[in-house]
Amino acid sequence: KEGVCIDNVSFKYPNSSRAALKNVSFNINPGETIALVGANGAGKSTLVKLLCGLYRPDQGSITFDGVDLSVINKDSLAENVSVVFQDFMLYNVTARENIWYGNVKRPQSDEEIVLSAQKSGIDKLITTLPNEYDTVLGTLFKDSEMLSVGEWQRIALSRSFFNNAQLVVLDEPTSSLDAFTESRLIENFKAITKDRTAIIVSHRLSTIHLADRIVVLNERGVAEVGTPSELLEKKA
Ligand code: ADP
Ligand code: ADP
Repeated sequence: KEGVCIDNVSFKYPNSSRAALKNVSFNINPGETIALVGANGAGKSTLVKLLCGLYRPDQGSITFDGVDLSVINKDSLAENVSVVFQDFMLYNVTARENIWYGNVKRPQSDEEIVLSAQKSGIDKLITTLPNEYDTVLGTLFKDSEMLSVGEWQRIALSRSFFNNAQLVVLDEPTSSLDAFTESRLIENFKAITKDRTAIIVSHRLSTIHLADRIVVLNERGVAEVGTPSELLEKKA
């Protein structure tokens, strides 16, 4: 079956007494963008971790184009699934090298790197080190070359642009951004999810509106599924 099938997935952390995910099922059609929403603790981050193979479901399965994501090896997983984590997971090397190291399929040339950096508007910044950035990781920065959180985020997005993975997962891509920076990045999200199957975990309405459908999680599993207009109009 094409697209993503999340079938009756349950998961409990070893040190926890209650399930983080309980009987979660939904499908994502090929090319579709899903917004994953739900209260704190509903299991959104856990589902992201299962999607990128950090954990395996205790029960149920997650397949992408018919392939079980919990059984394929790490390299093929990384070729199929590109994740932009909430905390960016950037290495303390230049943006250029972040785009390089962050991908299993290595860039073939510097031009390729510059191109993916251009797509998220950071091509002028590719020789800057993350520790010259803002305080997200609590690192000191040199004020001469300080980058904003938004620029940092865009480096993480560039990595995903370079990666041709057909499934892209954005975990709270705008949570640390102000509304202005977010609005400038919306175009990047559109570009990154275009022609790919995508999941965006987000609370922000402007980001949720990008999705074809919204999946609402709660502690009992999938609470609701619907288009943005169906769900948001109902709430209004
Ligand atoms: P969300 O991303 O929707 O806020 P999470 O996936 O982070 O939800 O959390 C789902 C549940 O799993 C919560 O009850 C949370 O406390 C628990 N949880 C998350 N991460 C861990 C962990 N590493 N160890 C134990 N419990 C965890
Ligand atoms: P998010 O904002 O994505 O929901 P959280 O702030 O809930 O993430 O979690 C931050 C980190 O703390 C994650 O790595 C998560 O796995 C971990 N975590 C969350 N809840 C617990 C818990 N009950 N026990 C241990 N670790 C947890």
